[in-house]
Amino acid sequence: MALVPLSPETRNLIDGQLVEASNRGRFDNLSPSTEEVLGTTADGTKDDMEAALVAARRAFDETGWSEDAALRERCLRQLHEGLVEEKEQLRSILVHEAGAPVTLTPWMHLDDPLGMLPYWTELAGSYAFEQRMPDVPFMGTPQGRILRREPAGVVGAITPWNVPVYLNLAKIAPALASGCTVVLKPAPDTPWSATHIGKVVAERTDIPPGVLNIVASSDHLVGEILSSDSRIDLVTFTGSTATGRRIMECAAATVKKIFLELGGKSANVILDDADIRSVAGGAMTCVHGGQGCAITTRLLLPRSRYDEGVAILKAAFESWNYGDPTDPKNLQGPQISRRQQERVLAYIERGRDEGAQLLVGGGAPDHLPKGFYVEPTLFVDVDPDATIAQEEIFGPVLCVIPYEDDDDAVRIANRSAYGLSGSVTSASLERGLAVARRIRTGTLSVNGAQWFHPDTPFGGYKQSGLGRENGLQGFEEYLETKVIAVPAGS
Ligand code: NAD
Repeated sequence: MALVPLSPETRNLIDGQLVEASNRGRFDNLSPSTEEVLGTTADGTKDDMEAALVAARRAFDETGWSEDAALRERCLRQLHEGLVEEKEQLRSILVHEAGAPVTLTPWMHLDDPLGMLPYWTELAGSYAFEQRMPDVPFMGTPQGRILRREPAGVVGAITPWNVPVYLNLAKIAPALASGCTVVLKPAPDTPWSATHIGKVVAERTDIPPGVLNIVASSDHLVGEILSSDSRIDLVTFTGSTATGRRIMECAAATVKKIFLELGGKSANVILDDADIRSVAGGAMTCVHGGQGCAITTRLLLPRSRYDEGVAILKAAFESWNYGDPTDPKNLQGPQISRRQQERVLAYIERGRDEGAQLLVGGGAPDHLPKGFYVEPTLFVDVDPDATIAQEEIFGPVLCVIPYEDDDDAVRIANRSAYGLSGSVTSASLERGLAVARRIRTGTLSVNGAQWFHPDTPFGGYKQSGLGRENGLQGFEEYLETKVIAVPAGS
């Protein structure tokens, strides 16, 4: 797949205009695979965030956007068409700034997310925002009621760098479809995956000024305003659990609605009757450098098949292709930054110190001197309570944990502060399903089946988050509920 030359939009979108930062500041966008500066981006300031907030508030309170579902449907259709026309530029941006392996871009990174937009467009047009409830008696007199679902208001959206086009659209599209207005603050590591969407909005759609604002900034505190300012009605965030906690704290003062999609430490449970060759799929932990919240990073192997399974995994890790993300044979590119590379390497060190056996990898590869790469890393005999089995590493690191029987596997899978995803493999669908039903997570896969689709609600139990993205439930996160009582029969 040949990449087109980079020509990204690098300005912010505020009140319908593509603008430089108020102080003309810019920050570098670094390639994680070459460590070269790809270019610069307008460095949004607190004044820029203020302008975006004023615009979003005005667009919600003083224009017809929140009431005009037909306008929203048309605008989302234009956004989809415009993004499809810019698809190859977005692909190039993703590979260069996020280090996304080009081979993966047709799936989670780009083509799939673009394919989700018609789902939101259709919902904007078809959702029953107002319905009559059946009449009921109150103190002997029949009463009528109208149930209204109204847009929550101005949404502050904060996104991370791992699958940035998808995550930006997964927040923007349902929020706009519901009638909300939005201020998006993307991750500073991947600004163009957002600012280029801003260009499409400004140049190819009738989305009214102020309805969608995009403020990239190198300063996290510019984004923090979205979680504390009283003009924001709802804050939606994807990223680390630590930042999620901070957002909850900041949002408490104004009792904002919050929607959080946080970390994971999901279990891949291989039952003792499974085709043991399926264990090789455990190497998929390294996809995109392990930088995915729903990746299964704990592999639970029955003790009765342990040695067999470990041998298969070792071979799979040793033959795993990684390196230059523009090379189609690689499913793993670099970590996003030096900071993330060092963080992953520190976890590997910790794993060794705590007694896990390092079987493959464990360092930065000698043959890739430039770029923030980490070797595909396989730990076996990992204690389920070890730091590397409990904390989210966000790197190409798999922890193999032995277990005794199905009950033990369920106990270990659930012994986590997280509950985002997971998988179960068994020769018996019934047995696999029985185990899946006992694991406390938001999504599960049995025997390799995939759940990812725009109508699938996605999100976590426990410290993996609050609320659900996608699906009808994801749409309704952006709605308030109002009931109006009216005389019966009216
Ligand atoms: P992060 O949570 O710090 O950053 C994510 C987003 O939050 C970015 O846009 C960032 O600018 C913003 N942010 C940071 N501090 C903020 C604050 N106080 N208020 C408002 N916004 C703030 O994540 P990170 O530092 O980029 O990565 C660290 C770890 O986060 C990773 O190793 C991984 O464990 C986790 N992570 C999880 C996901 C996920 O999809 N669940 C995605 C990315 C990172």
